[in-house]
Amino acid sequence: MNPKQQIYWHTTVEMPDDSGAIPLPDKVDVAVVGGGFTGLSAALALARRGAKVAVLEANTIGWGASSRNGGMVLTGLKLSTETICKKYGRDLARKLFQCSLDAIDAVEQVVREENISCGFARQGHLLVANKPAQYDGLVKGAEFMEREFGHKVQLVPRHEQHDEIGTDLYYGALIDETSGGLNPAQYVAGLARAAEKAGATLHARARVNRIEHTMNRFGVETTRGKVVAEKVLIGTSGYTGQATPKLQKKIIPIGSFIIATEKLSDELANELSPKNRMIFDHKHYLNYFRLWENRLIFGGRAAFFPEDDKTLRSSAAILQRDMIRVYPQLKDVKVEYVWGGTLDFAFDMMTHVGEMDGLFYSLGYAGHGTAMATYLGKTTAEAMLNNSISDHPFASFSFPGAPFGLYDGRPWFLPFAGMWHRILDWIE
Ligand SMILES: Cc1cc2nc3c(=O)[nH]c(=O)nc-3n(C[C@H](O)[C@H](O)[C@H](O)COP(=O)(O)OP(=O)(O)OC[C@H]3O[C@@H](n4cnc5c(N)ncnc54)[C@H](O)[C@@H]3O)c2cc1C
Repeated sequence: MNPKQQIYWHTTVEMPDDSGAIPLPDKVDVAVVGGGFTGLSAALALARRGAKVAVLEANTIGWGASSRNGGMVLTGLKLSTETICKKYGRDLARKLFQCSLDAIDAVEQVVREENISCGFARQGHLLVANKPAQYDGLVKGAEFMEREFGHKVQLVPRHEQHDEIGTDLYYGALIDETSGGLNPAQYVAGLARAAEKAGATLHARARVNRIEHTMNRFGVETTRGKVVAEKVLIGTSGYTGQATPKLQKKIIPIGSFIIATEKLSDELANELSPKNRMIFDHKHYLNYFRLWENRLIFGGRAAFFPEDDKTLRSSAAILQRDMIRVYPQLKDVKVEYVWGGTLDFAFDMMTHVGEMDGLFYSLGYAGHGTAMATYLGKTTAEAMLNNSISDHPFASFSFPGAPFGLYDGRPWFLPFAGMWHRILDWIE
């Protein structure tokens, strides 16, 4: 039987709905575009500081990647610390890495302060090597992290990996105990409640179509009317569109898909991941997986394009095949759910914060947004209020667009990039 095309996480919580919609305010201090981790965390920080803030969301609050993701709350960024060090120098690399650690603390703090029941725990992440040479790379990377960043991780050679993962597929692993996990839909719903409680107003089905800059104000036109705002923050991630065409041209939207199995026995769940780690592999076309209440949540970039009926069906089959390759013991286990979402990649694979034509933004999380979007939503909001955005570490390097300007927001090159990644996985 085909799995249900439904976001499993949504069955575990009442998501914010749009019935009883309140009218849009005429005028606010800050209009936040996008109701995910970035927008809600920003709205919470702004409202706590006494700003009048409205969150404008095209769909329902939490509809985007924030309620669809793997719930991995990870240290670091998409690029390795060595690469970031080479590119930006040791001082900035240290600051950026420290932000990624602060980001996990920010999640922990808001979960605790706002009593968000989302299963947040620091159970650590496990990065597994698909090839022997990749394990050598993990050893070097661990030495580098400790030497340059004072951050300790542990290595697990292949012959000991059964303590961590119930498979023989990999060639050893790296553990980072600082990382954690949560249920993303429960978390984003909790953030929404917290932002509202602090005084922000949340407006579902208010797609922003146009933002007009006049004098020192912005006219934000939505499908539910117009709001005048002193400042605007864009938190639209992989769904960034025509309302902010310059940002749209800097972000590549990439589909990522997840399946959830039926509930497994305690014994089997324990065999798969005895320490309940957040697990991901070393491939370009990577798989990421973890347990939640005895279901295996198994994701990957099974199709590069955003979800529709066709990509969901093919992704379910591809992910189930990949899952059985990792865990042959799951060959007769039922896959109950499949869903997808859209990731946001900048052309340099870095996360970017800043101001463009007077609009503030935070995006380009490249699969690291659970912690980073929470943190950067908050710190970008604070920098907006303090007029100090240029001091933000994530605003201190350039935000490149496509080479030769060969991109208008429609990612025509993704099939080629997908092929290229598969080739790299094969030869590297
Ligand atoms: C399948 C999947 C798995 C992932 N797994 C992980 C993981 O395990 N760990 C991790 O750290 N990260 C993961 N990520 C990434 C993470 O989910 C995102 O980085 C994060 O949720 C981004 O939050 P956001 O608030 O910026 O964007 P989103 O949550 O995507 O919210 C953006 C919102 O903007 C709205 N919007 C767009 N345009 C407009 C407009 N014109 N007007 C009004 N609203 C608009 C959209 O409707 C959307 O709701 C994953 C992503 C996906 C898709």
